[in-house]
This record gives sequence, structure tokens and C-alpha cells, in this order.
Amino acid sequence: MKINVAKSAGFCFGVKRALKIALDTSKTGSKVEMLGDIVHNEDVVKEIKKAGVGKIRRLRKGDNKILLIRAHGASEEIYEKASNLGYTIVDATCPMVKEIHKIAKISKKEGCEVIIIGDKKHDEVRGIMGQLQDKAVVIDSIKKIPLTKLKKVKKACVVVQSTQNMDKTIPIVDILKKHINDLKFFNTICRPTRVKQKEIKAMPLKNDVIIIIGSRTSANTKRLYQIAKSLNKRSYWIQSRDEIKKSWFSNTQSVGIMAGASTPDYTTKDVIKYIALL
Ligand code: SF4
Repeated sequence: MKINVAKSAGFCFGVKRALKIALDTSKTGSKVEMLGDIVHNEDVVKEIKKAGVGKIRRLRKGDNKILLIRAHGASEEIYEKASNLGYTIVDATCPMVKEIHKIAKISKKEGCEVIIIGDKKHDEVRGIMGQLQDKAVVIDSIKKIPLTKLKKVKKACVVVQSTQNMDKTIPIVDILKKHINDLKFFNTICRPTRVKQKEIKAMPLKNDVIIIIGSRTSANTKRLYQIAKSLNKRSYWIQSRDEIKKSWFSNTQSVGIMAGASTPDYTTKDVIKYIALL
């Protein structure tokens, strides 16, 4: 059985960078806290916790403490509140997410209604919304475009959550263009996501079985799985090798392996090793 591993499998640049910042910061001697998990992966979360970076639900007194802003970014309110409480801020927001913040803020200043295509509850989308004084419109599906509200909008800017599916984004933008005369579209799906999506569109057609590795909490892994499944019914989403079933590989000549942007290489290697011995 041939095993084909996607070139783009595993950590993206933003996750690698955030983890390095977190581990470096943990060595400074100060107490380091984070609002939520560093990335959506249980093993990485454990690693960071072991290094001494604590997870908190809300900000309290921050004297002599560092607040680590995660790769997803945060709202202006968090930065302000943390500074007022005495925290030193170490910002691990992915530069590509920072770019979305910049576009949204400039567009708002220019009088545009900001429209975000993304998951309403995702931290990255919340962070983008939290960069703006007024509320932004969030569209998470083509079926839920608030057309009545948007018909009154004369000028708008569209940004996209960095890990969205390109094929689902473009039809939404096309509908928006029909209803808003002055609409600027910024395709802010990040490069690592585009590369992964391009690969996962090709792999299911070239392999009998597809294995997608990543946490159930990882939105980008979920999207990779959805794309793979739509092209090859024998696509499986696993968190670790323990979930692999031997029956998946009967009459199989080749297996394609892809891992989400927050899946560590050791998990992927473990899966490859296991499948190679089947
Ligand atoms: S998925 Fe893209 S935007 Fe998100 S952390 Fe990775 S590189 Fe940055």
C-alpha cells in the first residue's frame, strides 16, 4: 500500500510562530496567561501547559504577568483591558490575521459596512469584529445572507476568515455583488489554507483512501475533511492513530494523508508509521 503524505500537512506558519512565541515567553520567568487554548489541538495544548503557560477564562489582576495573545488574535477591548489591569502583552496574532484587522479598520474609517465571511463563534472572527467600533455583518453560509439588511448598504468591504473554504466563499461574494453597488472584496483566506485546500482537492481523486488528521475542535481540519469526503467517500477524519480501523484499508493500493494546520508532526508521523505496518 502506497502512502502519499500531503506536502502541506501539519502546522501552518502562523501556528509555528505562535508556539515559538509561547515557549520563548514561558522561559522569561514571568507568569504567562492566555485567554483560551493556544491552538485547537489537545496535544499542543498539553505541551504549552507543561511549559507553564496558563489558560484563563477572564482577565484579573495582571501585575507582573504576561498576557499571550493567541494566533487567532483578539479584540481591541482585550488589549485595552489587559493593559489597564497591568498585564504586559505578548502578541502572537498571526500576521495574516493582523492584515485582516488592518483591512477591516481602514475600510470602516472609509465609511464601509464591514462584512466578514466566517464562523460567527470562531475566535478569529470575534477578534476581527472586536477591532471595530460598530458591529460587522458576519455571514457563515450562503443560506444565511441578510439580504434585507444589506440592500440598504451603499458601500461595503468583504473580508474572509483566514481558514474558510474558497469554493464556498466566492458564491457568497457573487450574491453580495448583485445587491451592493460599491463592494470591495478582499480575499483574506491565508496562503497556507489555500495551499492545503488545493492539495486536498487533488488527493482524494488519486488515492483510494484519505486520512485527515486533526482535532475535532479544529475548524480548518473539519473543512479539509469535508472537501475530501465530497470527492472520495473513503475519507476518514482521525485525531490519532488509535481511531484507525483496519477495515478502511481493504482493497487499497494508495492512502493519502493530510493533517490540519494545528496538528503536530509527531501525530502525523505516528499515523504514517501505524498505517505502514498494516
Ligand atoms: S491558518 Fe493562516 S491565518 Fe491562521 S494561523 Fe495559520 S497561517 Fe495564520
